[in-house]
Amino acid sequence: MKSKHSKYIIIGAGLSGLTTAYILNKNGIIDVTILEGRPQIGGRIVTHKDVDLGATWFQQPHQYLTRLLNELNLGSFQQYQKGQSILVYNTMAPAHYFESATDASSAKRIAGGSIAVIHKLSENLGSQIKHNTKVETITEVNKCLEVLTNRGLFSADKVIMTIPPKLASTLDFYPKLPEYLLAIMKQTHTWMSNSIKVGLTFSTPFWRENNFSGTVIGESNPVIELYDHCNFEDNSFSLMGFVNEDLRAAKREDRKEAVLSYLEKYLGESVRNYLDYFEKDWSKDEFTAVQHLQPINSSPQYGNAVFTDFFMNGKLLFSGTETSKHYGGYLEGAVISGLEAARQIINSK
Ligand SMILES: Cc1cc2nc3c(=O)[nH]c(=O)nc-3n(C[C@H](O)[C@H](O)[C@H](O)COP(=O)(O)OP(=O)(O)OC[C@H]3O[C@@H](n4cnc5c(N)ncnc54)[C@H](O)[C@@H]3O)c2cc1C
Repeated sequence: MKSKHSKYIIIGAGLSGLTTAYILNKNGIIDVTILEGRPQIGGRIVTHKDVDLGATWFQQPHQYLTRLLNELNLGSFQQYQKGQSILVYNTMAPAHYFESATDASSAKRIAGGSIAVIHKLSENLGSQIKHNTKVETITEVNKCLEVLTNRGLFSADKVIMTIPPKLASTLDFYPKLPEYLLAIMKQTHTWMSNSIKVGLTFSTPFWRENNFSGTVIGESNPVIELYDHCNFEDNSFSLMGFVNEDLRAAKREDRKEAVLSYLEKYLGESVRNYLDYFEKDWSKDEFTAVQHLQPINSSPQYGNAVFTDFFMNGKLLFSGTETSKHYGGYLEGAVISGLEAARQIINSK
């Protein structure tokens, strides 16, 4: 089988891979092919009807992401927090109502939804991105790596792997990767791969009109965290949150009813007037999660030092948020790893 050759291949068009491609492009390095398994780009960034079903927030210390947003002329805005927030320890006991301080240090969102950064980064990448192209095998052949996909064979002098390490450990590598590396890849939990997100859109932000912030927190309830998710322009109104993982196995209709009746109790019957209800269980997404769910109770350690080395005789480099020493798991970690991979490629030319 004849392969399509380029100097560099980036596997994965998430924030990390696209940051690398953007920086390489800016430095005149355009012989780059980006292989993406999904029909759409963005990876764990998905914005559906203005609702972020993947990553949403960043914070003031996330300086690399902030700088990138500025460079791309993208705005940001504070998470809406005005009015009463609700803490529900137990649905049988009275809820606790509180007001959050709205200050500059609170969580921020990207204007246009998180997907805006993906669209901007990919603006000049055009046909360099190959959608629906699932990588299966990476083989060292003479001076290059051959990458076998469901859409044929690609090859490159160097490959940057941004698939989360745990998922990447399920690909076939010839020759095999060292055992110590594979062990670390398998142990590296894919951040948020257990999450179930829910979005509800409305014709009016009725909770704001009733002096609620839209924040409803309750660890053991059907929705463990809910937030106002109206857009930057304030003309698209929604609530977004995380569904309790105990509802994962329930039928969609039963889970939806559990979510709606819980929110109705605290925000009022207007919750039932939603325009759209959608949810995304990331554990069922073959391009993020591995089959066996790993319960996760504390924030994992990311950025193992092994990921700074090249493998397969200097031809394979790992990147992606889980490989970042700083803010691993976050958008910030994805940007840092993307910048670092670009730096390593430019330095190794
Ligand atoms: C529900 C949820 C909420 C989150 N909330 C936040 C938040 O509020 N703030 C924050 O900072 N971070 C948050 N995160 C984390 C954030 O989304 C990630 O840190 C970031 O998007 C990771 O980018 P990445 O490029 O490293 O990885 P990914 O986005 O996972 O990119 C990897 C890419 O590889 C592709 N791929 C996978 N397998 C293959 C294959 N075999 N062949 C080809 N392509 C493949 C994938 O489709 C994907 O596009 C959240 C994540 C989730 C899931």
